Amino acid sequence: MDSLPKFQLTSNDTIPNSVNDVRNAFHSQKTKPLEFRKQQLRRLYWSIKDNYDALLAACKKDIGKGTFEAGFELEWCMNDCIYVANKLNEWAKDEKAPEIPLMNAMLRPKIRNEPLGMILIIGTYNFPLILLFPPLIGAIAAGNTVIIKPSENAPNVAAVAERVITSTLDPSCFRVIQGAIPETTTLLDQKWDKIFYTGGATVGTIVAKKAAETLTPYTLELGGKNPAIVTKNANIRKAAHRLLWGKIQNAGQVCISQNYTLVERPVLDAFVAEMKGALAEFFPSGTRNTDDYGRLVNSKQLQRAKSILDSTKGKIIVGGTIDESDCYFEPTIILLDSTDDPMLQEESFAPLMPVIPFDDLNSAIATANSMESTPLGLYPFGSKVENEKILNEIRSGGASVNDAWIHGSIPTLAFGGVGDSGQGAYRGKASFDCFSHRRSITTTPWWAEKLIAMRYPPYAGKLEQFKRLGSLKPNFDRDGKVKVGLLRCVHVS
Ligand code: NAD
Repeated sequence: MDSLPKFQLTSNDTIPNSVNDVRNAFHSQKTKPLEFRKQQLRRLYWSIKDNYDALLAACKKDIGKGTFEAGFELEWCMNDCIYVANKLNEWAKDEKAPEIPLMNAMLRPKIRNEPLGMILIIGTYNFPLILLFPPLIGAIAAGNTVIIKPSENAPNVAAVAERVITSTLDPSCFRVIQGAIPETTTLLDQKWDKIFYTGGATVGTIVAKKAAETLTPYTLELGGKNPAIVTKNANIRKAAHRLLWGKIQNAGQVCISQNYTLVERPVLDAFVAEMKGALAEFFPSGTRNTDDYGRLVNSKQLQRAKSILDSTKGKIIVGGTIDESDCYFEPTIILLDSTDDPMLQEESFAPLMPVIPFDDLNSAIATANSMESTPLGLYPFGSKVENEKILNEIRSGGASVNDAWIHGSIPTLAFGGVGDSGQGAYRGKASFDCFSHRRSITTTPWWAEKLIAMRYPPYAGKLEQFKRLGSLKPNFDRDGKVKVGLLRCVHVS
C-alpha cells in the first residue's frame, strides 16, 4: 500500500502571503481561459486516480470507511472532473437575456458568467472526499483561484488531498492550507470573494459573521434534525430497509440522514421488526468486524454520541454497544414515547435511530415542524397523497420520497440547505453557478443614437412616448382576477 503523507499544520504566519499570491494569480487573468480550467480539471482527475489507493487507505484510517463507501466517493469525484470539464463550454457561454422588452432589444442584453475571484473552501470530515473535491471542481470550472482547507479531523485524507492538489494543479492559483481553529481563524481574517463552508451550525455562524464584516458572500452547507415519517400506507419492509441504509453509511455521520423516524402507531411493531431483520440481513456477522461498517471519527465525537444515547428515557431495542478503543458505535434503534426525549435535542450525527409513534398525520407534521422548521432533508413514506401533504407542509433543503437520503447522492442535482440547514447549493451545473457571478451586460450600438434619444432631457412629452412603447397592459382586474382575451405583455425573446 502507498505510504500516507504526514498531516502537517500550515504555519499561521505564511497564510496572509499565500492568500495574497492567490489573489494576484486571479488578477493575472490566468484562470479565465476555459482551456486552462479544463486542463486543471483533467489534471485533477488523473491525480485523484493516481492517489486512489492512498485515499482509500486514508479514509479507512480516519473514519473507518470501507472500500465500497470510500470508492463511491472517489468515483464521484473523478466523474465530476470529467462531467464538469465536458459541460464547461456550454455552461460558460453568454446567455441571451430572456423576455427582453422590444424597446431594449437593440442593446443586446445578455448574462456573462464570470468568476467571483478568490474562493475559500472549508471542508468537513464525514465525506472527506465528496465534500472537498466537488466544491473545488466547481470553483475551478467557474474560473476562480482557490484556497482549500480540509478538515483536520480527517488528517490522513487532508494530507493525501494536499498531495493530490499540489502535485498537479497550478500552484499560483490553487493552494491547500492545513489547519484547525487557529489557522481557519487566520483564513477567515483575510478578504475573500466567496467562502464555501461545510460543517456544523455553530462554526457556520462564525463564518457568516466574519464574512459579514467585509460583505463577503458565502455558501453554508450545514446539518439538521431531519425527519422521516412512515405512515400505515407505506411498504413497511422496504421503508425499514431504506431507512436503515440511510443510517449505516459513514456509521451514521451523514448530514442528510434521518435524525428520527415518526411511525404511525398501527405499523410501529412491524416497522421495528423489519428494521431488526434488515440489520441482520445487511450484516450477517454483525457490524463489529466488517469492512462494510465504519467508525465515528474520533473519541470526542464518540463521547458526544454516547452522551446523547445516555440521555434518553427511551428503550434501546437493538444495539447500544460502544467500544472506545476504536470508536466503534453499534447501529442502535431506540423506541421513544415522544419527541420531548432529551436525545432529540440535537442532531445525533451518529448511528442512532430513534423511532417515535404517531396517531395522526397532522400531528406528525406539527411535531416535525416544531423540532426544526427548516431541516436539511425530509423523508416521507406513505401513500401518494400523504407524501405530497408531507412535502407541502414541512420545508427542507431536499427530500427523498419513499427513501432515505438518496436525493443527496445524485451528483448533478443541486444540493443545499434552507434556513437553519444552510444557504446556497452546489453540484452539477449548480456548482458552476455557486462560484460564478452572473454579470448583466448591454452593448449600445453607435447607430442607435436616434432611437435612444428619448432618455435625454428635456423630457417634455417623453413619458407618454415611453408609455406607448414600454408599458405593459394589465391582464387582470382590480381583484387580481385574470381578464380573458387580453394579451399579457409584448416582449421579444
Ligand atoms: P468539523 O469538525 O470537520 O468542522 C468543520 C470545519 O470547521 C473544519 O474544517 C474545521 O477546521 C472548521 N472549524 C471548526 N471550528 C472552527 C472555528 N471555531 N472557527 C473556524 N473554523 C472552525 O466538522 P463538524 O462541524 O463537526 O461537522 C459536523 C456537522 O457538519 C454536522 O452538523 C453535519 O450535519 C454537518 N455537515 C453538513 C454537510 C452538508 O453538506 N450540509 C455535510 C457534512 C456535514
